Amino acid sequence: MLADPLLNKGTAFSDEERDALGLRGLLPPRIFTLDEQVNRAYSNFQRQPEPIDKYVFLTLLQNRNETLFFKVLETYPEEMIPIIYTPTVGQACLDYGVIFRRPRGMFITIRERGRIAEVLRHWPQTDVRMIVVTDGERILGLGDLGVLGMGIPVGKLSLYTSCAGLHPRYCMPITLDVGTNNENLHNNSTYLGMSQHRVRGAEYDEFIEEFVTAVKTVFPKALLQWEDFGNTNAFRLLSTYQKRICSFNDDIQGTAAVALAGVISALRVTGTALADQKILFLGAGEAGTGIADLFTAAAVDAGLDETEARQRCWFVDSQGLVVHDRLEGLAHHKIPYAHEHPPIKTLAEAVEILRPTILIGVSGTPSTFTEAIIAQMAEFNERPIIFALSNPTSKAECTAEAAYRNSEGKAIFASGSPFSAVEYQGQTFIPGQGNNVYIFPGVGLGALVVESAEVSERMFLIAARTLAELVTDEDFAIGRIYPSLTRIREVSVVIAIEVAKEAIRSGLARIIIPDEEIEAAVNNSLYQPVYQSYA
Ligand code: NAD
Repeated sequence: MLADPLLNKGTAFSDEERDALGLRGLLPPRIFTLDEQVNRAYSNFQRQPEPIDKYVFLTLLQNRNETLFFKVLETYPEEMIPIIYTPTVGQACLDYGVIFRRPRGMFITIRERGRIAEVLRHWPQTDVRMIVVTDGERILGLGDLGVLGMGIPVGKLSLYTSCAGLHPRYCMPITLDVGTNNENLHNNSTYLGMSQHRVRGAEYDEFIEEFVTAVKTVFPKALLQWEDFGNTNAFRLLSTYQKRICSFNDDIQGTAAVALAGVISALRVTGTALADQKILFLGAGEAGTGIADLFTAAAVDAGLDETEARQRCWFVDSQGLVVHDRLEGLAHHKIPYAHEHPPIKTLAEAVEILRPTILIGVSGTPSTFTEAIIAQMAEFNERPIIFALSNPTSKAECTAEAAYRNSEGKAIFASGSPFSAVEYQGQTFIPGQGNNVYIFPGVGLGALVVESAEVSERMFLIAARTLAELVTDEDFAIGRIYPSLTRIREVSVVIAIEVAKEAIRSGLARIIIPDEEIEAAVNNSLYQPVYQSYA
């Protein structure tokens, strides 16, 4: 009981339980309530000097007592989420080999080919519903970290539980080890994965195929979330498996929905229509083209035809503006956005010539939204919408302060990682954080409650709209275009309800619930971090 974090109550075991379970003498005598334990844990958390120390503290707590861990998260979400997820989780992944104490999640290597189902059956829980899987190739904006990327599936699943009430026993983090092309890791004595180059091509594809088939066999009700795969594999895997197993890619689709929600909510401030926007993206990877694809779907819904809608999205990648002349050799996901236009080399020129209403940074390259670029956006837009979404904070295209200062307070700004409040000319701005956590827990929960066969694009569109509707006038008054993170549980539940309804409407649900009963079904499914009685 003391060693199993799902069962352990630590100093909260009652006298009766201590006798009934043979724990007498194994714990200090005083019995604490869960709330008292939360207070102690929180004061210990506060004593940790650096965010990474706080991360290690919370990891140890999670490995010891999950109920207490999730109660702490529920009590202090605004302080805890940036530690268990971005930005601190990025540092935690970089340091994972050093801070590693005991494994959490499952490691499946390419050497296990032919026996993946057998390996999955080693997992102690039999009714897994939510799997977050990575192969570590593109961890946040940090690149190829191999198995050190395990911090990401672990962190995301903690968010599923704390934000959307998914029971921890349903959750399974997985890292697939197919090697790493990060040479520093090959030569690093603390690296925990296989020291070999990444397996590619048919061998990789067969490995993934076996993995997906094994998941379907061993955990038939599981939703599979693809996480932080490299660009070439991410798009391919999503399109190959989207309809074969209930699955989605958060970097592509979750990001798209949270960014679109930010846009819809910002348009409530500007008073302009979605169909009148022109978006310029810096970075044409998973996040950027994912956002553009969902924006296109939203614009089509708003009355544009698809070609027209795609024409509203422009991309600058590392080679300059993505244009028709570059079609040869252009990555597949960029092709729909390679419009007829003379070549443009820089972002500054592209802003000047295209005059976008919205500028979105998803390049992983810091300080690329220069003072001049931001000032120019504010010249031809009364309220320019500027999102610097690259993570972690050190990679953001501009800081919140730069966005407000260089636009003379006009910018409607959101970032990927949190920024503190900014004082500018006597006004306080609270920057919105376009955190995927607003979307994926609710979408996942909604899909699971009705056992949806797929997670469709329309579900993400609905999630984005629902999120934007939850932003209040009080939020807008302080410059925030997302609800406060303190409302995350409510946000996730509302999104889950809408997603579940959509699953039923579209015929994807395997459990049919009348519309008016969905809210209760979602609410009844929520995990609460409270101790059960064993006496
Ligand atoms: P990716 O590797 O798929 O794409 C990055 C793209 O940026 C590539 O097309 C690359 O060519 C381009 N690029 C790199 N440097 C550039 C430069 N100097 N100028 C122009 N283009 C450049 O990565 P991704 O998944 O699209 O993620 C990109 C960034 O977005 C990451 O930093 C990630 O953390 C962030 N992100 C944020 C959120 C969020 O805020 N909710 C969600 C997902 C991703």
